[in-house]
Amino acid sequence: MRYQIYQGHCVRKRFGQCFLQNQYYINEIVDAINPQCNELLLEIGPGLGALTHKIGDKLNHLAVVEIDKDLALYLKNNPILGPKLIIFQQDILTFDFENFSKKQGNPLRIFGNLPYNISTPLLFELFKHMNVLQDMHLMVQKEVAARLIASPGNKNYGRLSVMAQYYCTITPIITIPPKAFTPSPKVHSTMIRLLPRAQKYDSKFNTTILNSITTAAFSQRRKTLKNSLSNFFSSHHLLSINISPTLRAEDISVDQYCELTSLWLSH
Ligand code: SAM
Repeated sequence: MRYQIYQGHCVRKRFGQCFLQNQYYINEIVDAINPQCNELLLEIGPGLGALTHKIGDKLNHLAVVEIDKDLALYLKNNPILGPKLIIFQQDILTFDFENFSKKQGNPLRIFGNLPYNISTPLLFELFKHMNVLQDMHLMVQKEVAARLIASPGNKNYGRLSVMAQYYCTITPIITIPPKAFTPSPKVHSTMIRLLPRAQKYDSKFNTTILNSITTAAFSQRRKTLKNSLSNFFSSHHLLSINISPTLRAEDISVDQYCELTSLWLSH
């Protein structure tokens, strides 16, 4: 079996391990996160600590969630970093964000250079816990970042754009080439900032319905809304909120998807 050793660690591809080793990009990311010592920061996948050391320098405590037990132990044994870390050796997809935030008495600032294979399911998991999140700085595949920030009419605009932009205001921070990592991934990466949006829809608003409507619309994105959303709305319904039935999924805004959700809930 072929495997690669980096800084004494046997790289585990199944955990999406690509370690950031370029100091310029590390500094840019740390500056963008701008941690303050009274804040509660949580890093997803600290790996060998490329970001952890520099962020940890500015804090008394830093929480990390790392699935790889060798890496969790490596960080725990670091004489400078180890004592200030709260280490969870587990899958981030099973992490209890609300319980941790409540126990610590602070909202969470989440950051991480994400393993690409879990970035979309992780984002949907994080969207369930927006009430305890202050912000997120996440490195994702450049193409995923393009989908997250896409506007109506753009070829990247889809269900992920609508759902993410419903929950957050999203800003790209920096795009990083493959050679800044070891081993090098095949794609460029983009660090994005996600800030929870104050929700302007009332408590009856249901994100499961928003998700179902966007899924139906975008799974047949070439069809008109009259056809793709026929299980939800008649043409008359669409026109009642000024949406032309001949538009397609990519033509309507996040706010209009939210209006469709409210319309569905009201009839
Ligand atoms: N932060 C380090 C860096 O920038 O050099 C490592 C980034 S590497 C792309 C992703 C990290 O996430 C690895 O340390 C990997 O072991 C960890 N990881 C992968 N899947 C995970 C999961 N489901 N839960 C928690 N950590 C995970």
